[in-house]
Amino acid sequence: MSDSQQPSDFEPVDVFAETDGMDLRPGSDDCYKCSTCDTNCPVAEVDDDFPGPKFQGPEQWRLKRKDDYDIDDSITDCSNCLRCDTSCPSEVPLSQMHNTARSQYVDNQMSKLSVEYIRNRILSNYRTSAYLASLFPRTATFVMNFGPVRWVMEKGLGIPSERDFPEFATTTFRQWWKQRGGAQVQNPDKRVAYFHGCYSNYNTPEVAKALVHVYEELGYEIMVPEQKCSGTPMFANGMLSDARRHAETNVESLTAAIEDGADIIASCTSCSLALRQEYPELFDIDGIEDVSNHTYDALEYLRIYEDLEAELEGAKVDFPDLAYHAPCHSRNQGLDGQALELIENIDGVMAEDVGDSCSGISGTYGWKTEHYEVSMEIGEEMFEHMEHAEGDVGMTECPTCAMQMEHGTGYEIKHPLEVLEAALVSEE
Ligand code: SF4
Ligand code: SF4
Repeated sequence: MSDSQQPSDFEPVDVFAETDGMDLRPGSDDCYKCSTCDTNCPVAEVDDDFPGPKFQGPEQWRLKRKDDYDIDDSITDCSNCLRCDTSCPSEVPLSQMHNTARSQYVDNQMSKLSVEYIRNRILSNYRTSAYLASLFPRTATFVMNFGPVRWVMEKGLGIPSERDFPEFATTTFRQWWKQRGGAQVQNPDKRVAYFHGCYSNYNTPEVAKALVHVYEELGYEIMVPEQKCSGTPMFANGMLSDARRHAETNVESLTAAIEDGADIIASCTSCSLALRQEYPELFDIDGIEDVSNHTYDALEYLRIYEDLEAELEGAKVDFPDLAYHAPCHSRNQGLDGQALELIENIDGVMAEDVGDSCSGISGTYGWKTEHYEVSMEIGEEMFEHMEHAEGDVGMTECPTCAMQMEHGTGYEIKHPLEVLEAALVSEE
């Protein structure tokens, strides 16, 4: 053996180069290839070309031993429903792997001048478009649904003309909150900070108002801190730098609310999921763990801290029968049964579960022409179950699932907080 071959001269090959970024390769080792994630993926079920979550997650990260390994294009076909995450028995961080891979794909492989990139940036920054629309809400609602405009949007940007743009509220939730003079109940022992998200502010303030009425009826002091988008549509479109900017504002103001003695509640299950799970998985911002540990879904919080059964005893409401769909992001948090369990206690309301299928829209996913058909095919099972259910009004906690339910059936859709408001709060 020559000197150069002596073991003391051995230099290990630098297989995993040092990086400041997130390294998810070790998580791949927890995958034992059972394929449970693949069988639970709604996109893989209807799209034979989609290789599925096992490939998108652990397999892709295992291959990624060198920086020159490109992310597979199919990462853009994942809808970020997180069903794979929920179903994996081995706690492989699938959604974290997908979100990180999607971001690397967008940063390194997607042309910033492509129509697809521009469209995705507009869709994922819904808060900006909604803010502009809220300056002229009636005009914006009309223009966004005007045939020729939709034709141009479809041909030029790939936004399907089949979908109806949601109506913009003439008074946003935050304007209403300011006009009424903020919180009507002061109570340092029962304080919550409401993360209303973009949709409840600009499109469905009735949901946010229902939350305020219910919580104040139960003696809570509500804070409405400064906030930006939760980041959910940005994670789904690989726009992690945008999401980080929004997360920094949210974490700063929510941390301040926690210091003032508040827990954080959200009425949208994708927002609560982002604050509680996706933020600490993707970012390292001071206070992020605190925000995660103090965040709850609004119904979940009441079920933990209030005796709702007692509160609802004797309540009788006149409410239409409901067909309920549990959003994927509430399943991911283990909250999929809660709305039905709650409503069982209310005399005069009947809510029927329409099964455990995905609605198919998954935020911005169903708002892209290339995914529209897949999105509707996934939703078909839910539409059929809704039509066979007794009720002809739908109910769900997720704003985009509500859009898809309405689009597929024509039903009006309610949030469980609106039912709770009808049961607990007397009309003035
Ligand atoms: S469910 Fe989990 S363990 Fe099974 S194949 Fe998918 S990632 Fe691997
Ligand atoms: S997040 Fe949903 S669409 Fe994406 S791979 Fe997982 S199950 Fe499939």
